[in-house]
Amino acid sequence: MLQLKSITEVYGLLDREKRRVVITMHQKPDADALGSSLGLYHFLVQLGHEVTVISPTNWPRFLNWMPDSAKVLDFEGMNEKALKVLQEAEWIFCLDFNVMARTKKMGTFLEEHPGTKILIDHHEAPSEAQFTYGVCDPSKSSTAEMVYDFIVHSGHGDLINIQVAECLYAGVMTDTGSFRFPATTASVHRMIADLKDRGLNHTRIHENVYDNFLENRLRFIGYILLNRMEIYYEYNAALISIPKSDLLKFEIQTGDTEGLVNYPLGIQGIRMAALVIDRDEERKWSFRSKGNFDTNSFARKYFNGGGHFNASGGRTYETLPQTVATFKKALQENVQALQNEYPISIINE
Ligand code: 5GP
Ligand code: MN
Repeated sequence: MLQLKSITEVYGLLDREKRRVVITMHQKPDADALGSSLGLYHFLVQLGHEVTVISPTNWPRFLNWMPDSAKVLDFEGMNEKALKVLQEAEWIFCLDFNVMARTKKMGTFLEEHPGTKILIDHHEAPSEAQFTYGVCDPSKSSTAEMVYDFIVHSGHGDLINIQVAECLYAGVMTDTGSFRFPATTASVHRMIADLKDRGLNHTRIHENVYDNFLENRLRFIGYILLNRMEIYYEYNAALISIPKSDLLKFEIQTGDTEGLVNYPLGIQGIRMAALVIDRDEERKWSFRSKGNFDTNSFARKYFNGGGHFNASGGRTYETLPQTVATFKKALQENVQALQNEYPISIINE
């Protein structure tokens, strides 16, 4: 098995030779995946590299304000062009994922690609053998924070221009729940202070991401919270399950369901929230928790997924009622962990 080489070894290679570079991320990218990729893009082009960002699938339209998002290739949508660029790449940066399966159909092409693969990610359990160089640090708030570290530690902090700053800010802002989750360290705040010094207008980014939806999305959320949310107080847990008919009725598109899973966590006593969406090819699960319930292990054990301790996802190929039944059984099996009410501050003492 090949040993993953340290990301620090890449620093010296950055300004040596011009390279054909592809930056890619997990399927259905969120603001961290796309923001860290475009942030890195705006950095690498300044060093003279020929850089293309390829997303495995389409992405939420509320990310289209990101500078040069129009240049991002959709591997599913424009397969031929994206495939050609990918095949000719010498370096492939893999951002915000650490197992090739998370890039859907791109996965096999990435696995077989002879180029140098560079991993920058903050999820648990990386497939290290699939990458040449890399860093995977689950203690980091976001991949965008890690791209910032990559740029600064490589000695190129002066190349953080407004485009880099806007893209990276969007990633950190969303993955920290607007600077709220425990991974929001002093270093994160120092990074943001640096971006502010470089002219970042953070209010504009918040508005672009959070105040840019169509009316139907808000009406959909109201409908879902009223009709599709179940609360299980005996497990300190909640479930939102969305049948396909609801998605069609409200003309829901990629990204419109983002953040929905967090609503039940606002209810007193609820420590774990799950969301399942009936998509065409799969039932897509999201899990969020507060404190010491490990959603990563839960998603891995029952729903072919993974992610972070407090935020994970997964998928099954059962019907919606079947997978909901699996979930309820899983709640019973985890009753002790779910009923454990110690706040995280006590655990850490
Ligand atoms: P979301 O619920 O927003 O889809 O995902 C929550 C977190 O878990 C994200 O960081 C995401 O990258 C990760 N995640 C989502 N689905 C999967 C999956 O199927 N496998 C793994 N390993 N991680 C996932
Ligand atoms: Mn992320």
